[in-house]
Amino acid sequence: EEAIIRRSAFTHSLTQFPSPPTSARSRSSFDYLIVGAGFAGSVLAERLAADGRHVLLCDRRPHIGGNAYDFHNEDGILVHRYGPHIFHTNSQEIFDYLSQFTDWRPYQHRVLADIGDHRLPVPINRTTLNGFYGLNLKDEAEAALFLAARAEPCDPIETAKDAVVSQVGGDLYRAFFQGYTRKQWGLDPSQLDRSVTSRVPARVSDDDRYFLDTYQAMPLHGYTRMFEKMLDHEYITVSLGTEFADIRRDHPEAHTIFTGPIDEYFDYRFGRLPYRSLEFRHETHDARRLLPVGVINYPSETVPYTRITEYKHLTGQIHPKTTISYEFAGGEGEPYYPIPRPDNQALYKQYEAVARRSSDVTFVGRLATYKYYNMDQVVGQALATYRKMSKAHASTIAA
Ligand code: FAD
Ligand code: UDP
Repeated sequence: EEAIIRRSAFTHSLTQFPSPPTSARSRSSFDYLIVGAGFAGSVLAERLAADGRHVLLCDRRPHIGGNAYDFHNEDGILVHRYGPHIFHTNSQEIFDYLSQFTDWRPYQHRVLADIGDHRLPVPINRTTLNGFYGLNLKDEAEAALFLAARAEPCDPIETAKDAVVSQVGGDLYRAFFQGYTRKQWGLDPSQLDRSVTSRVPARVSDDDRYFLDTYQAMPLHGYTRMFEKMLDHEYITVSLGTEFADIRRDHPEAHTIFTGPIDEYFDYRFGRLPYRSLEFRHETHDARRLLPVGVINYPSETVPYTRITEYKHLTGQIHPKTTISYEFAGGEGEPYYPIPRPDNQALYKQYEAVARRSSDVTFVGRLATYKYYNMDQVVGQALATYRKMSKAHASTIAA
């Protein structure tokens, strides 16, 4: 069922564009039809509307926010429907941009890996080395020497296995990476690009934060509230529960911005791009706290899930109960992750080539550009796309 949400305009847009806009409900013509209300689609909708363009933003899901969507569950606990999302970036521009739509709660994410009889920090740090090997490495220099002796150099470093083994050696690789990666991706680390495990490089300090970025924070009232603010504009019409295929013919006048899977857009003409999916088991417990940190990873292949998240660590919510979710990875279901490996990249390149020749559509986002991007990278990509579009628009007007 099509549901439309629209909110009143920001005053700045009214003063910038004094002619009263046509009511969006009755409006039938749009400058842009944006498919997907996640970060990619919402940032572009916000930027284009601020420029005076009329935008129709649709999503097949019944909510905005894409995979970053959060909501209060039946017990009133703020949870993330599609898995834990922690915002981190080194870009002041991206942080400032999003800060227009939300206040923040500073949050430094920490993860422990459950390796049977121990729970040790991930990424691997000096504490991990001491706990795993029963050592007493006292400083960074000692830890660096120890790691250098375990590392198994390989040249070139190509796969997700190479990236780990060349840094920390086979024992730590097998204990922390091999099983987790096999469960998460359904592939051995030797079959994935090195970029996958390079996301969690070992360090020799005892810093146990998962991310080292300059800005690390959670939207104070959640992601969904931040998206509501972003989309709260007279020139943006949001149409939820709406498939692109069902409305595309109604808007031949609009330029399409597509943020869903690119192979779907082109009717899988070169074959399906593989995406990894997830399932979640959510549980609410009658306890204020269950876990010592926000996420526990389970690298062992004898445990069926990859990780458990306790949301209250992330959100800071005070509540007598707590909700945790178990994550199970699989090949079927909604697309969550592009799978970085050479043959998939080659297939994507075929789609990208047709995309480049299609002047009526622009592809942005994690699924549409088949890139294992974090939220901040998608925001950066959407802002760059907007700049390119407005430059092209300005030169068309000038001509
Ligand atoms: P999406 O959020 O996937 O939005 C695309 C939208 O398009 C979807 O809502 C979909 O329903 C809609 N759509 C697709 N096709 C159609 C169609 N044909 N018609 C209508 N609608 C359509 N990033 C971080 O920075 N930090 C994290 O901690 C983090 N954790 C993550 C954990 C998990 C489990 C996952 C899966 C991702 C995580 N990410 C994290 C990455 C983050 O989710 C993405 O970078 C970001 O949400 C991508 O935004 P997007 O707009 O490109 O895509
Ligand atoms: N990884 C692992 N063990 C860990 C943490 C990560 O093997 O304890 C590997 C795994 O392949 C994972 C990848 O590193 O998919 C990237 O981890 P990250 O936490 O960034 O994954 P995401 O949060 O994107 O699912």
